[in-house]
Amino acid sequence: MSTETPPRDEASRRDPSCLFCRIVAGEIPSTQVAADDTVIAIRDIAPRAPTHVLVMPRDHIASAADLTDADADLVGHIFATAAEIARAEGIADGGYRIVTNIGAWGGQTVDHLHFHVMGGRAFSWPPG
Ligand code: AMP
Ligand code: ZN
Repeated sequence: MSTETPPRDEASRRDPSCLFCRIVAGEIPSTQVAADDTVIAIRDIAPRAPTHVLVMPRDHIASAADLTDADADLVGHIFATAAEIARAEGIADGGYRIVTNIGAWGGQTVDHLHFHVMGGRAFSWPPG
């Protein structure tokens, strides 16, 4: 495993054809529940649970398969943000699920890394 991956260059941080890049840029409306310099969290447009929030980096990263060691702080911050949202949404005590889908068989439909934070009901395992 490489620990010397260089940071992404400026040009690769945004894909103009990417739905979530356009949401990050404010070109497409969304309901934000959290935002800072590196991540935003929005309500899913088609919620599959009483709470269904998507936490994503502002930078365009196609999926979790594209993460490198250089993204360690980003990934930690995404999970910390997700936990904060879960507490704010009142789903932390009951338990909840964080999911990221990768590729066609993983069920990914938007190719910009995002983590589903879902709660407010019980989930089965394994997922369908
Ligand atoms: P995935 O299928 O894992 O790639 O997740 C993509 C998610 O984005 C789905 O749950 C969609 O309902 C959600 N989604 C698609 N378009 C929008 C949008 N404009 N605003 C918020 N969520 C969206
Ligand atoms: Zn994007």
